[in-house]
Amino acid sequence: MVNRNQYEFVRLVGNERRVGSTLKSVSRHWQKNPRFLFVSPHDDDAIIGGGLTMLSLLKDKIPVHVAVVTDGAQGYCSMAEQDTISDVREKETFTSLKRLGVPQKNVHWMGFPDCQLGQYQGRRKATPTDNVNVKGYTGLQNSFTQLLRKVRPTQIFLPTSSDLHPDHRIVHAEMLISCFHAAGAIWPELGKPLSAVPYIHEMAVYCNFPTTPKLRIKAPMNALKKKIDAIAEFRSQKQIKSLIELIRRAGPVEYLRPVPFSLYNPHLYRDMFEELPHYGYDQMHR
Ligand SMILES: [Zn+2]
Repeated sequence: MVNRNQYEFVRLVGNERRVGSTLKSVSRHWQKNPRFLFVSPHDDDAIIGGGLTMLSLLKDKIPVHVAVVTDGAQGYCSMAEQDTISDVREKETFTSLKRLGVPQKNVHWMGFPDCQLGQYQGRRKATPTDNVNVKGYTGLQNSFTQLLRKVRPTQIFLPTSSDLHPDHRIVHAEMLISCFHAAGAIWPELGKPLSAVPYIHEMAVYCNFPTTPKLRIKAPMNALKKKIDAIAEFRSQKQIKSLIELIRRAGPVEYLRPVPFSLYNPHLYRDMFEELPHYGYDQMHR
């Protein structure tokens, strides 16, 4: 029976069911000096998908960083806020994350134009009209590579690739390739390469996972209350009340899906193309 005041982690690895009270206790490849980065395409995504996970990590004194990719400029619910909503949402994000215990210095407001991420895939020389310019370049891969080399996370959490919002899908794809850029030697002006590609987990925000999750975090009820109070700080988002009701009903639980990299391994296909030895009846019954 689990103590209701404790966190419980369950990780499924093959037929094994690992249970523990910390993420470290159910992780075989725990790295020294862990640092975790939560990637939030929009201000509230990371808390919706991973607020309880963040709280459990902060309780264990693990540094938590949050990167908010878009500027939220398309999220106005009244015409009066049309030109000011981005600033409002930036302040709400700092307040919300502070409630969870993430200090403002660990919140990275990246400022890409909301709902226009399709125009910022990849990397190119920045022009005067680009909102984001890092070392003379713009594009998600440019900013993500610099962020990864600055924060140097051992693990990354980001919304699943199956979310309907194109911004979520684009962030997923661009962050995955940026992990390899950051660990490689290219673009030296963006910082010192990472020594290893970070482990990556997906969080569910609006849609189910593309395949089943392998990690479950059950949190104490007071952690769920903290998560809900933090989400309620996004006051400018008028639909937030119905979202909070959904989160309350889901209970103090989050599921995560590891993202495996299956890098090309030609040996996987070798046997398919070989002529198999033919066993006749006599050979089989010798
Ligand atoms: Zn979003």
